[in-house]
Amino acid sequence: MIYFDNVSKSYQDGTVALNGVTLSIKQGEFVSIVGHSGAGKTTLVKLLLGEDNPTTGSVSFDSVNIKKIKAKDMPELRRRIGVIFQDFRLLPNKTAYENVAFAMEVAGKADEEIASDVPHVLELVDLTKKMWNFPRQLSGGELQRVAIARAIVNQPDLIIADEPTGNLDPINTYEIVQILKKINDMGTTVILTTHNKGVVEALGKRVITMDHGRIIRDDSTGKYAL
Ligand code: ADP
Repeated sequence: MIYFDNVSKSYQDGTVALNGVTLSIKQGEFVSIVGHSGAGKTTLVKLLLGEDNPTTGSVSFDSVNIKKIKAKDMPELRRRIGVIFQDFRLLPNKTAYENVAFAMEVAGKADEEIASDVPHVLELVDLTKKMWNFPRQLSGGELQRVAIARAIVNQPDLIIADEPTGNLDPINTYEIVQILKKINDMGTTVILTTHNKGVVEALGKRVITMDHGRIIRDDSTGKYAL
């Protein structure tokens, strides 16, 4: 599904963020990407989302080189990928329900579909009781669950969770990871970037360890090498 072919990325100031990364991720996998701050994790995610281009090498999604996707076709790629961030990025003036519904409206979904799917995904993340709360009325763990509901509501093929538990305590971290696991069990590919050794070990799934822009370890059974 995803293929990084000898990808390097240098920024204008000369920083080498990725250095010869070759990586393949199959549909349905759950892959954690770990590494110290500055290792290149966010750069990897940006290249995958087509927000930036590699300096050399290529990044493909379903055998299509992302660099060759025309600007007008980029929204289609983006709709196939749901993204979850450390800082949630919810709209403050919309309720939990409206935040999720808005993602469907932007994707051009019909009102009836929105009315039936939004409660369903909010139930999946156990937020039925709080669906009319605004972000300021929700805890960190609840905010992240709204963000997950928003990311999955248009049924993407891939979820990228970029440090999703960075602002959460251990109990909420555990809950978020369980939800990501459930989403993966339903067939969606998940890429998780994290610093949290406990999360990766509890998952027991594939772990890619990065250091200074290189992959230094790729382990299929949840080992964290740092
Ligand atoms: P991580 O997500 O693992 O913390 P990043 O991909 O954010 O790593 O960063 C990798 C390296 O690239 C770091 O040295 C960082 O300072 C540098 N970097 C990231 N973005 C930019 C940018 N826009 N311009 C210059 N350097 C950058």
